[in-house]
Amino acid sequence: MAKVKTVRREPGEVLIEMKDICKTYVMGEEVVKANDGINLVIRMGEFVSIVGKSGSGKSTLMNIIGALDVPTSGQYLLGGEDVGDMTQNELADIRNRMIGFVFQQYNLLPRLSILENVELPLLYAKVSSSERRERAMKQLERVGLQDKCQNRPNQLSGGQQQRVSIARALAGNPAILLADEPTGALDSRTSGQILRFFKELNEEGNTIVMITHDNSIALQAKRVVRITDGKINFDGPAAEYAEVIRAGQLAEARPAAAGKLAEVGRPEETGRPEEAGKPEEVGRTEEAGRTEETVRPEEVG
Ligand code: ADP
Ligand code: MG
Repeated sequence: MAKVKTVRREPGEVLIEMKDICKTYVMGEEVVKANDGINLVIRMGEFVSIVGKSGSGKSTLMNIIGALDVPTSGQYLLGGEDVGDMTQNELADIRNRMIGFVFQQYNLLPRLSILENVELPLLYAKVSSSERRERAMKQLERVGLQDKCQNRPNQLSGGQQQRVSIARALAGNPAILLADEPTGALDSRTSGQILRFFKELNEEGNTIVMITHDNSIALQAKRVVRITDGKINFDGPAAEYAEVIRAGQLAEARPAAAGKLAEVGRPEETGRPEEAGKPEEVGRTEEAGRTEETVRPEEVG
């Protein structure tokens, strides 16, 4: 076996530690606090979803978690290493060692075979070609697509392509699987399959952080972190989050909010009990239609 730095250590060990993380963007006169004082600890073996509506700061936070970007202030320790003052090369290195990315649009390279796509992170990690092949095949078997290994991505369905991208993420043996809206491009049945697969992977010991705007998807994780206007306003077990949503829906159904009931059904709008029924908040739903993902991590990486 070629030497690949192993990043798997003790279950329960802290993998992500954020202290008062802020990220600000300056747009001419305007300063946008995309992340505004995030404190977050994620341990090995957890399955956490980070949920918030469009513009709440999820992608910004994901870029920092994935070492694709650095915070403006605050401290971020990834696997105990301070990411704050790393060079681009050091960031790329810790990213390759620690993080397996799964994106909404799969991001498979169209000209490569499925097998070659899954081998890619191992190529970057300078694993020998025979071992690359072996490990990539093993991951393809794990996602049930070994017989597609010579196909091109466009010959597979969306759900299959997402499974390939999960195999690719796992091939590098990352400490953390970081998934950005992994079911965002899939129908509900296929989404369910992918979420069940994440649960299985988590039961096998994989640490998963999943970003989503959809409460019903967020609830599939064990722990939910809710982000609103760049701040965490819920962090706890999924069962507790489900209760909070229920309470929020009741609050929003009060007569004061009755005129806005059409919007209450939107899953991304219902998890904010403390703000429920506030007209100025309900009015902000238009924002949800704006273009998502100002910075696509895959472009930065
Ligand atoms: P989400 O992923 O939850 O939709 P983002 O993290 O993309 O939220 O955005 C959070 C806020 O930061 C938004 O107001 C967005 O317009 C702003 N923002 C994000 N990226 C940039 C950028 N590169 N330049 C300026 N503003 C940005
Ligand atoms: Mg986003």
